[in-house]
Amino acid sequence: MSVGPHRVSHTGSSEAVEDYVKAIYSISTANDGGAVGTNDLAERLRVTAASVSAMFRKLTELGLADHVPYKGVTLTADGRRLALEVLRHHRLLELYLAEHLGVPWDRVHEEADALEHVISADLEARIAAKLGHPTHDPHGAPIPSAELQVGEDRTRALAEIAAGEGGRFCRIADGDPEMLRYLDAQGIRLGDEVRVMARQPFGGPATVTIGDAVHTIGGGLADAMRVEAP
Ligand SMILES: [Zn+2]
Repeated sequence: MSVGPHRVSHTGSSEAVEDYVKAIYSISTANDGGAVGTNDLAERLRVTAASVSAMFRKLTELGLADHVPYKGVTLTADGRRLALEVLRHHRLLELYLAEHLGVPWDRVHEEADALEHVISADLEARIAAKLGHPTHDPHGAPIPSAELQVGEDRTRALAEIAAGEGGRFCRIADGDPEMLRYLDAQGIRLGDEVRVMARQPFGGPATVTIGDAVHTIGGGLADAMRVEAP
């Protein structure tokens, strides 16, 4: 992820500010809207805790985030809007690259991470129209609307699904290209029906039928794969 400080997009914010609010939004959303701490963010953005602390002060000054004592930050309404705007760019770009330029789904994320900061509002609107105002990106993530509304993510991580339960595989974390290539190699696709047959104790792997095949899935992959209730 790029955190270069100098470019300014049509949102009026620097690339670094946009990357931070986007990361805060993602971590907070995964945490039921809770505050995001310095260490979580440092890990996500691969920067030092000192850099994060400095950026927290800046985001607070800009009115994009509020400091929560001992916990970290939450986004203000303005911060949330900025995050959703950048996510809209990112996810529209990913879909455009995949559908119209033939870029494989394991490579669109990195390209979109760079382009999301520089496209104009006009180009954003044209891409959305060309794609027919889509609701989801190639990894199954919801695309915020032009009004920056986003559908609630009613999915569960495969890791949280008990034996005997299942649903449709509808979303995969997009940050690890190797994971996407692994799914390709295993023939696992978004939209496949998933059923957990058995689960090893102590957080061990699960035996899962996906489509017609049986797979053993655990660890980071079970956390990254998200399933929609039937
Ligand atoms: Zn992405």
